[in-house]
Amino acid sequence: MTRIVASLVERSVSGVTCSSREAFRQGAELVEIRFDHLPARSLDAGTVSEVRASVRGPAIATLRSAVEGGRSKLKGTARENALKVLLDAGFEYVDLELERDQRLLKAEGRKGRRPELIASCHLLRPAEAGKVEKALVRACAAGDIGKVAMPCEHAGQAIMLARLGMRRSDAGDRFVLIGMGDQGRLTRVCAGRMGSDMVYCSLSGKPAAPGQLDVRTQSSLKGKDIVALGLLGHPVSHSVSKPMQEAALRGARLAGAYLNLDVPPEDMTRETLETLGEIGFSGLNVTIPHKERVLGMCDGVDSEAESAGAVNTITFKGSRIYGKNTDMIGFTQALESKKCIVSGTEALVVGAGGAARAAVLSLRRAGAHVTVSARSPGKAEAMARDMGADVVSISSLRGTGPVFDVVVNCTPIGTKGVGGAVPVPSALFRKGVLYFDLVYNPPVTRTMKVAAARKAAAAGGLEMLVRQGAASFNSWTGVEPDLRAMRVAARRALA
Ligand code: NAP
Repeated sequence: MTRIVASLVERSVSGVTCSSREAFRQGAELVEIRFDHLPARSLDAGTVSEVRASVRGPAIATLRSAVEGGRSKLKGTARENALKVLLDAGFEYVDLELERDQRLLKAEGRKGRRPELIASCHLLRPAEAGKVEKALVRACAAGDIGKVAMPCEHAGQAIMLARLGMRRSDAGDRFVLIGMGDQGRLTRVCAGRMGSDMVYCSLSGKPAAPGQLDVRTQSSLKGKDIVALGLLGHPVSHSVSKPMQEAALRGARLAGAYLNLDVPPEDMTRETLETLGEIGFSGLNVTIPHKERVLGMCDGVDSEAESAGAVNTITFKGSRIYGKNTDMIGFTQALESKKCIVSGTEALVVGAGGAARAAVLSLRRAGAHVTVSARSPGKAEAMARDMGADVVSISSLRGTGPVFDVVVNCTPIGTKGVGGAVPVPSALFRKGVLYFDLVYNPPVTRTMKVAAARKAAAAGGLEMLVRQGAASFNSWTGVEPDLRAMRVAARRALA
């Protein structure tokens, strides 16, 4: 069972005493005393034994060198002498660095003695799987527990660490594998399923390493069937799915986490999905640019995903991977929430991507006659042909083209940071027309203002975002989420 370690980065002995008490109270099973954060004079035998005595529970003594991300500048014999004091002070574990402390590791490294030795290696940059595995195997051989930490620039690297962890766990190694930073966080949330012996956390407000969860959060994930969820995309930082789905988890009183997983296209493989399933993910959202590719990686997809040619929701069932597209239900419910009667209307859909396909399908099922228009005429024609819609060129919309009751923007025009002109001629807007902009950031787009000024009704994409997210949440958990809480969280994230 993975043990929860609170890393204590205190500047005084009394600070260590107070923080260790608080850490154990919050659910830590071990504390790590970072001696490199204490004043250098604390490394004499008397003060070290005072520190040891002040901590009422199992502890790791660590003197992290500056070269491996810590604060200790001690080198050579001075470092070795300080570490010998720590080794003699009655700690359950002492952390020795694989590179710097080789001599001590050799001298002390008889397995099973107390204190147990954590042979640690902190890579300064992301490394290839082969290099990480080599370091981990060496660390496991040198200490009772091998530890490798590596910064992760994207989630593909953290997923590689997870895969490596499961393999070393099958080989019977005792290890800790850590992906540092926001994109490495899945190695902390899923530490147990990866086989890590320990997971390091911080006391709230006192982070010791980037990406650590706080003790309370890490404890809330322990030993439970947690709901691990995430968003696969590239990039993902702009997304509001995380706060929205976390609000749904809180509302449903489910222990879990939703992680933004930035996976570059070259790492987006079936194996990536399988690893996420194996380390305990219940489900994922999928966004640009992976929606289409992921379709071909699923064992089964629903009819909406098939028709849209894109998957935005993945559910893991055992070793099988199922894809859904909840954009259509999101679009349909958002229209219904506007009390818009679509049957028998003329609808115009602008754009020919995944969202446009979902909108055409929904409008057709609701009984509208649909015309599509996109900047790439070939794509518009192909989509219209596939989905039983008509097609009109953007330029002919500017003339005395047909009149539509519903106009839907399924392009990113108007999105914060994207900008762009109004996607359709403003002459299409008049009283009685509904303009539905799928863009949700900003909540009121420039085109919505133009439509409203011409007395058309205008709706933004936020309600669809909430509804499609709620349908995804339901497919992962079987729970109808609190729509209001999700809406509030999404609005707050966009503010
Ligand atoms: P997509 O598959 O990339 O399709 C985008 C479509 O817009 C393509 O037809 C593209 O044309 C066209 N386009 C892109 N930039 C354009 C521009 N500057 N001028 C004219 N056309 C342009 O994306 P998607 O998944 O369908 O999403 C489309 C939009 O809907 C995005 O803004 C997305 O955020 C939004 N959306 C909102 C929700 C929601 O819940 N509210 C759900 C899904 C999507 P080319 O093919 O020629 O590039």
